[in-house]
Amino acid sequence: MISSGCSGSTFRKCVQRVAIVSALIFIVCSPAILANTPISEKVILQLPWHHQFQFAGYYAAQQQGFYQEAGLEVEIRSGFFKNNQLANSAEEVVFQRAHFGVARSELLIHHARGLPVVVLANIVQRSPTVFITLEEYGFERLEEIGDRPISLTLPDSTYGNLLSAETLGALKAAGLNINTLNNHSPSWKLQDLIDGKTQLMPGWATDEPFMLERMGHHPVTISPLDYGIDLYGDLLFTHQQLLLENPSMVDAFRTASLRGWRYALDNPDTVIEYIVENLQTPGPLYDADFFRYEAQQLRLFMQPELIEVGYINPDRWQAIANLMEELEMIQPVSLEGFLYQPISPDSAWQKFWHWLAITLLMLLITFALIGWLHRSNRKLVLEIRKKELTEKELIQLATLDPLTGLMNRLSFHKILQKSVKEARQHQLPLCVMMLDADYFKQINDTYGHLAGDIVLKNISTLVSNLIRTEDIACRYGGEEFAFILPNTRLHEALLIAQRIVNEVADSSNIVNDIEISCTVSIGLAELNESDKDGINLLNRADTYLYKAKALGRNQIATQGED
Ligand code: GH3
Ligand code: MG
Ligand code: MG
Repeated sequence: MISSGCSGSTFRKCVQRVAIVSALIFIVCSPAILANTPISEKVILQLPWHHQFQFAGYYAAQQQGFYQEAGLEVEIRSGFFKNNQLANSAEEVVFQRAHFGVARSELLIHHARGLPVVVLANIVQRSPTVFITLEEYGFERLEEIGDRPISLTLPDSTYGNLLSAETLGALKAAGLNINTLNNHSPSWKLQDLIDGKTQLMPGWATDEPFMLERMGHHPVTISPLDYGIDLYGDLLFTHQQLLLENPSMVDAFRTASLRGWRYALDNPDTVIEYIVENLQTPGPLYDADFFRYEAQQLRLFMQPELIEVGYINPDRWQAIANLMEELEMIQPVSLEGFLYQPISPDSAWQKFWHWLAITLLMLLITFALIGWLHRSNRKLVLEIRKKELTEKELIQLATLDPLTGLMNRLSFHKILQKSVKEARQHQLPLCVMMLDADYFKQINDTYGHLAGDIVLKNISTLVSNLIRTEDIACRYGGEEFAFILPNTRLHEALLIAQRIVNEVADSSNIVNDIEISCTVSIGLAELNESDKDGINLLNRADTYLYKAKALGRNQIATQGED
C-alpha cells in the first residue's frame, strides 16, 4: 500500500495541520509587518551651519519627541562642531561620522563623483542663496559689476571647493566672463561689505539682509532666480549603505523630521524659544527677532502651501544636473540611486495586503496540492486493487480450468511431482487415476457441444464430491480427468474408483428436458519402486485407462490385472 501523502481519514488531519500552521505564521508575522517597529538607535544629524531657524524642523522633532516616538535618539550637530571649524556635512556622512546630513543642491556633485549619498527630502524648495550689495554702491544687476571689487566663490578662489552652481550659473546667464572679474575669496564678513572692501558677496536672503538693516545699512539682494537659476535649498540626505542596511530606521528618521518641519512651520515661536534657550548661537545678534525674520523668509522659500514638505521632484533634479553639466561642474550622470523613493504612509497596509494575498495564494496552492495528492493516491489504490484482481485472475487462469473450476493439467503436474516426492520421503502409498468419458464425441454430436459442456461439468461436480478432501482432482484435457490419491493403497483407491464409475453411470444429466446418460472408464495405478517420477506413474494409469476402454468401457483397469 502507498503510505505517502494524505490518504483516507488522514486527509482531514492534513488540512487541519495546514490551517493551524498558516494561522500561526499569520499571527506571528502580521504585527511585525503592521507595526514596522523601528529599533531604538542613536543617530547623528550633521548640520552645515550654526544653529538657527534654518534647521527648525529637526529641533521641533527633537523637542516634540517625534524622534523618540520613532525609537531614535538623535544628536543634532552644529556646522561648527570641532574647534570652531565648519563641517562639511557631505564628508561627515560619506565617512560615516554622521548618519544624516543637511546639504544643498551641490550634493549632486558628490553623487556625480561616485560618492554614496542619497537625498531623503527636499526641505527648502527654492534656494535662498543671493548676492548682496548695498544701495550706496549703486547697482542692482550682475551685468553692472564691471571692475567693482567682489567676493564670490569662483573656481580660483580659496573656497573653490564650495563652488556654487547658482553663482556660476547666474554669472554665465548675465553674460559675464568670470576670468575678467575683480574677484577675491569671500571673507563672509558683513563688515567688509560695509567698509567697501567688497561690493558684492554671497549670502542668504533669510539672514544677511536683516543683519545689515539692523546695523543701519540698506542692503540690496540679487537673486540667481532672476537669471533663471532655480536650485533647491536645504535638503536632508544619508549614506546609501545605511539606507540599504537599515531602511526602516532611515524611513523613521525621515518621517519624524518631516513631521518636525510641519510642526515648526505651524508653531515657529515655540521652536524659536527652544533655539534661544537651548542651543548655542554665534552671538547676541542671533536673537528671537532675528529668528522670527528668518522663519518668515524661510517659509517663502519652502512654499508649504504649494508643495508638500520634503517633496523630491526628479524632473527638477534632472534640470539641476543639466545645468551643472553645462557649467562643467559635473560629468553627465544618472540620478539612479541618488533620489530616495519614500515609503508612502499606506505602504504598511499595502505590505499587509500584499502579504495576505501571498498567504492566501500559498494556502490555495497547498490545498490544491493536498487535494491532488489525495485524489491521485486514491486512484493509485484503486489501480493497485484492480491490478491485484487481475493478478489473481491470471493466477486462476494459469492454475484452474475455466469450465469445471478444477485444477488444470499444468498445476496438476507440479502437485503430482511434489506428492510423489513426499510419498517416497515418508514411505507412504500413493495412487493416481486417469478418467475418460466414454463415447463423448457421440454426446457432442447428438446433443450439441453446449450440452456436452454441461455433462462435463456434472461429471466434475460428481467426482469432486466422491473423492476425499485430501485427494486432488484435475481436468486433464478434453473429457479426461486425473486424480492424486495421497496416502492411499491400491485397494482403497479401487473402492473410490468403483464408486465414481457407478455413480456416473447411475446419474442422469437433464439438458433442455432431455436426459443424457454418460459413463466413464478409469485407469488406476499405485506408485511403486520402478516409477521414475509422477509422470511415469501417470502414464501407467493412462495405459490402464486404454485397457479399460478396450475391455468395453464403463469400468476400471489397474495393475493388479497385469
Ligand atoms: P472414447 O470412449 O474412445 O473416449 O470415445 P470418445 O468419443 O470420448 O473419444 P474421442 O477421443 O474420439 O473424442 C473425444 C471427444 O470429446 C471429442 C470432443 O468433441 C469431445 N470433447 C473434448 N473436450 C470437450 C469439451 O470441452 N466440451 C465438449 N462438449 N466436448 C469436448
Ligand atoms: Mg479422450
Ligand atoms: Mg472419451
